[in-house]
Amino acid sequence: KLSIEAQTRATPMIAQYIEIKAANADCLLFYRMGDFYELFFEDAQTASRALGIMLTKRGKHLGEDIPMCGVPVERANDYLQKLIALGHRVAVCEQIEDPAEAKKRGPKSVVRRDVVRLVTPGTITEDALLDPARHNAFLAMARLRGEDGRWRYGLASVDISTGAFTVCEREENALGAEIARLEPREIIAVDALCRDPSLSTLFAGAGAPIAPIGRDIGDGADAARRLMEFYTVATLEGFGAFSDCELAAAATAILYVERTQKGQRPALSRPTSLRALKALEIDAATRANLELTRTLSGAREGSLLSVVDLTVTPGGARLLAERIAAPLTDARSIAARLDAVACFFERPDLRAALRAKLARAPDLSRALSRLSLERGGPRDLASVGVALDAAQDIAGLFAQLDPPSEIAAEAQTLSQADIALAGEIAAALKDSLPLDRRNGDFIREGRDSELDEARRLRDASRKVIAELQGRYAELTETKLRIKHNNFLGFFLEVSLANGERLLRPPFDATFTHRQTMADAMRFSTRELVELEAKIASAADRALARELAIFDTLVADVCARAEDLQRLAEAFARLDLYGALAEVAEKRGWTRPLIDGSLHFEIVGGRHPVVEASLQSQGKAFAANDCDLCGTEGGRIAVVTGPNMAGKSTYLRQNALIALLAQTGSYVPAQSARIGVIDRLFSRVGASDDLARGRSTFMVEMVETAAILNCASPRSLVILDEIGRGTATFDGLSIAWATIEHLHEVNRSRAIFATHFHELTQLAKRLPRLVNLTMKVTDHAGDVVFLHEVIKGAADRSYGVHVAQLAGLPASVVARAHAILAELEAADRRAPVETLIDDLPLFARLAEASAPKDALRDALQEIDPDQMTPREALAALYELKKKL
Ligand code: ADP
Repeated sequence: KLSIEAQTRATPMIAQYIEIKAANADCLLFYRMGDFYELFFEDAQTASRALGIMLTKRGKHLGEDIPMCGVPVERANDYLQKLIALGHRVAVCEQIEDPAEAKKRGPKSVVRRDVVRLVTPGTITEDALLDPARHNAFLAMARLRGEDGRWRYGLASVDISTGAFTVCEREENALGAEIARLEPREIIAVDALCRDPSLSTLFAGAGAPIAPIGRDIGDGADAARRLMEFYTVATLEGFGAFSDCELAAAATAILYVERTQKGQRPALSRPTSLRALKALEIDAATRANLELTRTLSGAREGSLLSVVDLTVTPGGARLLAERIAAPLTDARSIAARLDAVACFFERPDLRAALRAKLARAPDLSRALSRLSLERGGPRDLASVGVALDAAQDIAGLFAQLDPPSEIAAEAQTLSQADIALAGEIAAALKDSLPLDRRNGDFIREGRDSELDEARRLRDASRKVIAELQGRYAELTETKLRIKHNNFLGFFLEVSLANGERLLRPPFDATFTHRQTMADAMRFSTRELVELEAKIASAADRALARELAIFDTLVADVCARAEDLQRLAEAFARLDLYGALAEVAEKRGWTRPLIDGSLHFEIVGGRHPVVEASLQSQGKAFAANDCDLCGTEGGRIAVVTGPNMAGKSTYLRQNALIALLAQTGSYVPAQSARIGVIDRLFSRVGASDDLARGRSTFMVEMVETAAILNCASPRSLVILDEIGRGTATFDGLSIAWATIEHLHEVNRSRAIFATHFHELTQLAKRLPRLVNLTMKVTDHAGDVVFLHEVIKGAADRSYGVHVAQLAGLPASVVARAHAILAELEAADRRAPVETLIDDLPLFARLAEASAPKDALRDALQEIDPDQMTPREALAALYELKKKL
């Protein structure tokens, strides 16, 4: 086989480049040359466009110019950040030997280089590249066929920057919701999965780049072995139980970590399975529409999170985002979290003290992860010490207190912080520290006698050099200066005229000419050369000593990584509880009651985000009640009222209150009692999904279908303007049938906002349907929206009024009034009431084909005595599918 060099007649360096690039084809290659990372060929074109840097060329390859661009090493992070944000992956290729070594092999040999790290959106660790308040996780997916022949998906979410590692198993129809909850920055899966057409819509909507990982990780035993090797354990028993596809996903994640980190081992927590965590299910569309962590346009400002987040630490902010994304469904766990918030709510002084101390604590998780990847600097090490001290300090706050169990557990963790380690770190590090460890100068004087000795020698020699300047000046009776550069080392600089003198006896014996510049000459002397060597070796020794001390301390830290990680989590949780108490007080929120009932009673509820924005404009929010508990099942509230009267706000506020409550937060209401909600469904807003080739109406129908197929009496459903996307009668009929189905089959608690006043007539037939409307005052043609929800149906829509407010020409408004009057007159001649009486109720119509009866039919068919256990199990799965 011919070498690349021989095949293409490339220079040895370009041959090396091509080889490394070929092994990292899916990445932009940052190829280290001196103080720059250079990019060549197509990479150079891509990067110069993306970064707005100059494209140049260097040499030729196969007769063509080689395009090149470069970024200075010390500014590489800025450029990496831009490239990552654009979804690129970057392979960082370093020189892995001293150029002097390469020279020894022959004049033409190139310095050895290799990729030391892949920088990808989901695996970054540098503060400069990370958002402190957000998790930065990648998601590894694996797929296995279950016993029943259906696909099962394992999902492993890993945040290298904090060490968080969770796994779960989902069926295909629940993947979208799970990915939306996890918000991965990157999705990893084997090639076959990435290319599977049935997942293409899912991947397209995930909002993260998909990275194929190549070959399969193998079967269960292989996957388990990979995990055991990574954690250096002999068995996974201590990790808890995993299903096969959870294991496969976890192993894929580990493979990806190893592949991107090139042998560095980040301090990942052990994977935990989320099977035990029963989270409120929220599908991707609902999550997006309710603007939980981001608004529909992608901004954090204006989201629920932005109003609730008063945390003072990055870890607390990340945890809050995580919890809002996954509220609980277990009333007892929710109550425990609420107890913790109450503890700080009732003790403002304790809360203030806690928050002041926490605010000074560093981001321990991220410092720890950098240290474990050998990417940490002196400041990361100092952070660990500061965090340990803070832990002791904070634990003291709870000493005289009898806190609720959640907080007692955290206080206990904090009080066990390893103060000795903090002492060692503080004794070793200087007070003000460089970011980078490479240049030394961070270990305190007096910590290590060998280091102090080397530094003394280095400094003493520098002093001797300063004295030499005076001596040489006296000797030659000229003005001269001793300077230093990397090329010559220490040298004397004199003017040209004086230089001429030094070239002649007697001075030429002492002074050796090195360089002639435009206006100066440079000389060296034997003494200078000797001192240079002394200083260099002393400085080298000092640096080596500093790095050795640093490495020992880092090893001490890494040995306690698990304890420190726990400490970081304790900080985050305390911060979270303190912050939720702070919001509750600042905004007048109350503790909700969450129980196993099917209640939904909100008194004086408010929309947290709308209220905050009105408040900042000095306006008040009109609080509204909501009661969705009927005697025999959930109530459906049908809300009619003019545009801009506050219907959408009302719908969303009730969903948000439920969600906040189940997160374990106080809520914006005078009081709230909510029977635990298992799934939250919504059909709100009209977000076109043109990227996926669906019209607004299609999206609306797909989402409505999902609700009618899945919602249960434990679910909360909010529907805004169903049927608006099509012709009036079409829309009305669909909305009508939807309400009937919700009332008769799903029996969920539901709020339904609509334009169709005809629907209010349904209350006559459906006992658990209540009509609500938005109060409007109207005197002398002046319409005022009070945003107050009252019982009853709207008498008219005021659409023409809103059109007038919006500035339609007066003639158009007048004409619209006239047409409306005509239409209303015509409508009175054939009122909808008669239509209602003519139509049999949906439930009666649908009795024969209702899904519950399909289940009954299937059950009828089964003869348990004729079945093997395996068939019985398969039959059970089939039945479950019909639910
Ligand atoms: P609709 O859905 O009926 O068209 P929205 O819910 O979009 O109306 O509300 C329109 C505007 O009215 C909101 O942007 C908000 O500023 C204001 N608003 C809504 N509800 C209230 C309320 N309860 N109190 C005060 N202002 C409100």
